[in-house]
Amino acid sequence: MAARIIDGKTIAADLRDKIADEVARLRAAHGLVPGIAVLQVGDNPASDVYVRTKSKAVAEAGMRAFDRKLPANTSEAELCDLVAKLNADVTVNGILVQLPLPPHIDSHKIIAAIDPGKDVDGFHPLNIGRLASGLPALVPCTPLGCMLLAKTVHASLAGLEAVVIGRSNIIGKPVAQLLLAENATVTMAHSKTRDLPAVCRRADLLVAAIGKPELVRGDWIKPGATVIDVGINRVAGEGAKSRIVGDVAYAEAATFAGAITPVPGGVGPMTIACLLLNTLRAACAQKGLPAPNL
Ligand code: NAD
Repeated sequence: MAARIIDGKTIAADLRDKIADEVARLRAAHGLVPGIAVLQVGDNPASDVYVRTKSKAVAEAGMRAFDRKLPANTSEAELCDLVAKLNADVTVNGILVQLPLPPHIDSHKIIAAIDPGKDVDGFHPLNIGRLASGLPALVPCTPLGCMLLAKTVHASLAGLEAVVIGRSNIIGKPVAQLLLAENATVTMAHSKTRDLPAVCRRADLLVAAIGKPELVRGDWIKPGATVIDVGINRVAGEGAKSRIVGDVAYAEAATFAGAITPVPGGVGPMTIACLLLNTLRAACAQKGLPAPNL
């Protein structure tokens, strides 16, 4: 049977519509307009595209953008000062520092300087610790997006065998923590895992966050399993063109899986939608309003 396609593009668009409705309601009821500051240091073409896409999404949601693009020679102290000002600014509810930063700036130091309540990327050590402790936290956007997609297939993740491939701080580890919090039985696989295909074949839910084009083959997938492919890999296409593929060999995997995210159009669109969701949640928490029920 053909796998159900988990259409991240449509799911993300629906979520963004709901967020925009909630923002309009908050503006009317409480005069609250959630605001987010995206800080970028230096020129990086990939970051430029990403920041532009974020700014457009923020505006479409009816939120305020306080984006700052700083010169490449901005010092660590100057960036810390700017973060401190934004921490103190009540109109700024979320702060995101676009990574990578130039090598003379310690990104850990900058992230630790962000008010944890405004840390809409979920990278502050306090939010990481809260997530690991099973406490409410602002959680990283792509992992949150993976969870929302998995929940469109499974009403409950409790007791599922979940395998996460990849142990990065931004994807693999937080995805595993979120799955644990939903009572899945979680295995983390990585570059040193022995017999990765056998580990994957145990998974009712497989999350691939590796960064290796189409590493996961079709016959690694347990029949009927749900596959969430986080990978974004640019490979040679026809002629001079390149194309984007995931970490999972999609066509093969779709013949085994029960449900699968495509690449592009799966996890990718959820990241920005979840950034908006985190900003909305942060704004409500800062104003003492109940968390939006989206
Ligand atoms: P990373 O390089 O930090 O981590 C990759 C992980 O994969 C490591 O933990 C490593 O142990 C594991 N790994 C590497 N080779 C392996 C192998 N042969 N077998 C098993 N495990 C292996 O990468 P990351 O930042 O976590 O990103 C992972 C992927 O997700 C990349 O393709 C990235 O582009 C993509 N990504 C997508 C989004 C999105 O919005 N969809 C956001 C961020 C990253």
